[in-house]
Amino acid sequence: MTGILWFRADLRLADNPALHAAAAGGRPVLPVFVWDEAAMGARAPGGAARWWLHHSLASLARDLAARGAVLHIARGRAEEVLPRLAAATGATEVHAMRAYEPWARAQSERVHKALSGALVLHRSALLHEPHLVRTGSSAPYSVYTPFSRALFAAGDPPPPIPAPARLAGIAAPGGEPREALALLPTRNWAEAFPRHWRPGEAGAAERLSRFAARGLKGYAARRNTPGIEGTSGLSPHLRWGEISPRQLWHAAREAGAAGPDAFLKEILWREFAYHLLWHRPEMEAEPLRPEFRAFPWARDPALLGAWRKGRTGYPIVDAGMRQLWATGWMHNRVRMIVASFLVKHLLQPWQEGEAWFWDTLVDADPASNPASWQWVAGCGMDAAPYFRIFNPVLQGEKFDPDGAYVRRWVPEVAALPDRFVHRPWEAPSPPPGYPKPVVEHAAARARALAAFAAIRREAA
Ligand SMILES: Cc1cc2nc3c(=O)[nH]c(=O)nc-3n(C[C@H](O)[C@H](O)[C@H](O)COP(=O)(O)OP(=O)(O)OC[C@H]3O[C@@H](n4cnc5c(N)ncnc54)[C@H](O)[C@@H]3O)c2cc1C
Repeated sequence: MTGILWFRADLRLADNPALHAAAAGGRPVLPVFVWDEAAMGARAPGGAARWWLHHSLASLARDLAARGAVLHIARGRAEEVLPRLAAATGATEVHAMRAYEPWARAQSERVHKALSGALVLHRSALLHEPHLVRTGSSAPYSVYTPFSRALFAAGDPPPPIPAPARLAGIAAPGGEPREALALLPTRNWAEAFPRHWRPGEAGAAERLSRFAARGLKGYAARRNTPGIEGTSGLSPHLRWGEISPRQLWHAAREAGAAGPDAFLKEILWREFAYHLLWHRPEMEAEPLRPEFRAFPWARDPALLGAWRKGRTGYPIVDAGMRQLWATGWMHNRVRMIVASFLVKHLLQPWQEGEAWFWDTLVDADPASNPASWQWVAGCGMDAAPYFRIFNPVLQGEKFDPDGAYVRRWVPEVAALPDRFVHRPWEAPSPPPGYPKPVVEHAAARARALAAFAAIRREAA
């Protein structure tokens, strides 16, 4: 009896319980990827993520071919494509991994119905199912620390399962070439991405083994320094499921990570973001703290444009935005600085920043992106307090003390001595061609605090 494996955002063969079930006992299997743009709507992947997906599908197709199976790519509504393929192949079951974002949950339900219940969902995109993690009073968690404590107390997740050595692949009519999905950008702004990334399961495994051998030990001390490779760089691989959190967890344990280790805690931030998204699906667009709906944003397309282009006059902000544009990724510490700057110094809605990240990050994640933006903006459940306003100069001097990061991404300031590299306008001869700060820190801070006070008064 044929099995269908429906790939969603889990483009890997190892630790893939859906694949194991679909191919159980060596039965014939049809691996399928369905590009269902209508289902995704406004949350269809942005430009950078599409670039990644294009290459990841190529890698997945190669890995499947090496084991004897052909990846079937289709466009259209999943609830129409999958029953058609089931009828064509005589498959009685479609196996897939559970997906957690609102549109994918609705899609799962439609497919389930269209297949008369023959859709079997498996778990391995997360360590713990969001609906099963509950506080002592049986409520969802809204604060990270007790959430992570509960997950550490639950013990290590089961070990990952290996990839099957061979598959009995079968073909079905109606497949399309990957190019038909038109995932690559028409303007080739992604041309430098291949220098930084190798999408696909092999690229993920390679990055993990490099990090386990060289990066994990010093992670706690090095993770906040954007001028060095102090973090794993695994986020886009996790986003597309080329590696599972269980694989990461066990690799970290094998490399010596103990107890609530700094790296494992970060993996749990991702879990927490999915927990929030599951219980508060409106999080993608609406502030989780309702008083923020009345926030007096001062929309300004010119300021938003300066932020996007990395021309705010603050080198640490501009370096981050230019790293993002050039590589599709930005260091976490700098993400916090640029997000805080957009929302607090420039008073632009966090949704604008979320949308720009959504379009330009290779790791743009349906849960971590809105959760992190809400955290920075102060409107998330467990958020940084609104009145904590990063000073972009002091942040630069603290986390990039020798200016290695800003010199790399903002060549205009590269020749300045260290003491001016984060405050170029104070240099005896400020660099020509680099903008003066678009806002002055003290005035912007006072304006942000006044805006915050206004919504607090409304809420009182
Ligand atoms: C404004 C803002 C937007 C963000 N948007 C995204 C996004 O779209 N996609 C995304 O994956 N991460 C996002 N993050 C979280 C974090 O910046 C990235 O996960 C991290 O920089 C990825 O680099 P890494 O893989 O080297 O991380 P590492 O430090 O090596 O961490 C390992 C993994 O843990 C997870 N992780 C680490 N930090 C966080 C965090 N704060 N929240 C959630 N998960 C985390 C990621 O999956 C990451 O790959 C955002 C953070 C901010 C402040």
